[in-house]
Amino acid sequence: MLEPDVPTPAGATREGTAPAAQPTPAPAPPLAREHLDRDASARTAPGREAAFDADPEALVLALHDGRVLVREGVDGLELRHPSTLPAPGLRCFLGRTLTDPGASGPGAPIEAWVYDADASAAIAPGTRWAGLRSVAAAFGDRDAGLAVEAVALANWHAVNRFCPACGGSTEVVQSGWVRRCPAEDRLLFPRTDPAVIVLVTDDDDRVLLGSNAMWEQNRFSVLAGFVEPGESLEAAVVREIAEEAGLAVDRVEYLGSQPWPFPASLMCAFAARVAPGAATAAVPDGEEILELRWFDRDGIAEASGSVALPGPTSIARWMLERWYGAPLESSLPWSTS
Ligand SMILES: [Zn+2]
Repeated sequence: MLEPDVPTPAGATREGTAPAAQPTPAPAPPLAREHLDRDASARTAPGREAAFDADPEALVLALHDGRVLVREGVDGLELRHPSTLPAPGLRCFLGRTLTDPGASGPGAPIEAWVYDADASAAIAPGTRWAGLRSVAAAFGDRDAGLAVEAVALANWHAVNRFCPACGGSTEVVQSGWVRRCPAEDRLLFPRTDPAVIVLVTDDDDRVLLGSNAMWEQNRFSVLAGFVEPGESLEAAVVREIAEEAGLAVDRVEYLGSQPWPFPASLMCAFAARVAPGAATAAVPDGEEILELRWFDRDGIAEASGSVALPGPTSIARWMLERWYGAPLESSLPWSTS
């Protein structure tokens, strides 16, 4: 029996004939990458903003409406010196670039500057605002981590302008990492909503994929749901699969995680196996999930021309390729924004 954490290379047979020189799946989910010193102690340093503005090495990641500034034809962020940009509506300290071993001095400080609807005037020719889902998988580790950090922070600020306890206006403090309610001296910290996403397999190591009611036809992915208050991650896995597919699962195993700041999720990936003796007839709940299908490896390779698989930035795609044992080609990619 194959275990979920021992992927069979694509095309391998049960007799063990592995194909030659298959490309291997990515070692980490695409948005779980980071190459940065977040330098949390600097967030409360007096005079930090003025020092940033005067630092010739300082870099700004510009954001507008959840999108990051990129240069056409370049797989990375368009980072600018603060003196070349107009004043933003919000600024958040992201951290410092990591320096090579033996290099003198700290790395370059980086801030996210968030612009409102008039921001398009700040865009120079050759650049554009891009959504993470369409560009971040091609970014290097530093830019992928920076972009996710910046978008997640900006999304949190956008919906926390008022205190949840008294309704008063809140102000930005600690370099964008805290909001404060002056009326109560209450501090508000950025929140992340945990969700579980589950690679369900059966005893034949087939994988269960579902088509969500919110998606266009022929989109299939692994099942996912938010963790409820007072619930462990493992209990959420068992509950979600029972609710969405009518299946009893056990052998819940943690695979990895990645932030998914649309607007504030942390996707926690698990493998789970249909429980011994339990029926494998998956029954969609008819509300959130409209169709469920089991795929073996040959089946998913064949279906990739007619079924849209999760986008390359998603942890779902990483989970599927990890199970499959190689990158999956899909001629019907999910639309991205
Ligand atoms: Zn308050």
